[in-house]
Amino acid sequence: MIAESSLLARAANLKPEREKRVVFLTARVHPGESPASFVCQGIIDFLVSQHPAARVLRDHLVFKIVPMLNPDGVYLGNYRCSLMGFDLNRHWQDPSPWAHPTLHAVKQLIVHMNQDPKVSLEFYIDVHAHSTMMNGFMYGNVFEEEERVQRQAVFPRLLCNNAPDFSFSSTSFNRDVVKAGTGRRFLGGLLDDTSYCYTLEVSFYSYLAAGSSAPVPYTEDTYMKLGRNVARTFLDYYRLNNLIDDNKPTNHSNSSLEGQSYRQGNSHGNGRNQELEKSERRIQGSKGDY
Ligand SMILES: [Zn+2]
Repeated sequence: MIAESSLLARAANLKPEREKRVVFLTARVHPGESPASFVCQGIIDFLVSQHPAARVLRDHLVFKIVPMLNPDGVYLGNYRCSLMGFDLNRHWQDPSPWAHPTLHAVKQLIVHMNQDPKVSLEFYIDVHAHSTMMNGFMYGNVFEEEERVQRQAVFPRLLCNNAPDFSFSSTSFNRDVVKAGTGRRFLGGLLDDTSYCYTLEVSFYSYLAAGSSAPVPYTEDTYMKLGRNVARTFLDYYRLNNLIDDNKPTNHSNSSLEGQSYRQGNSHGNGRNQELEKSERRIQGSKGDY
């Protein structure tokens, strides 16, 4: 077993600094999975905000986001398929420009970026919603090399520290034949071994926080909060926290909100992330959690 700190260092520093580091996110390939859109909204709102952590993320990483991979299916109210009746998440291997146009275009973009020597495509995360499982969790790929397996587990472990609704124990790694045409599986084979591809699932209905046996129903706000926690986990992954210009003590007037937010948003968090929560609330002002 390799120590987590050294794994993190190796995972985050395998590529030269000069390369443009890209995180590619997609959502809503399955049109009925509307929670995925709220998670994606949380990611986008945070990344474009004036939050100091968001600025650091924008300075160091490029986020490419396709919030809706299946817009015609969403428009029609389909649960899983596109206008032409395809489950797009089974056609990544050979998408057709006329039958799967959005998928074809996104795949072309990813393949093109992957061939650009100035670009380092390091993460692909496809956001879904799950109809039977609780919590947020991830699916990843299976590799022969043990060190790569452990490096792949780093991001979900860090996310588990930041998000009380994210479950590392429900996170799993598989190579099922039936999943071969998914984005996560296909791109896992396409990108090199220092890139990570995940499906991020979030429950349609509720989550269990660590140490609790009472399910908490998800709301639009808590889905968006998971999205923010996904975004800020890249700070931990790339060890950018010390670059955030926000260590001044604060006298926030609404102490009950602070306490509540620590419990809800940071039950396993550390002091550094509590500082992030504080600064986030200070920027939000009277609006509270955004
Ligand atoms: Zn799905």
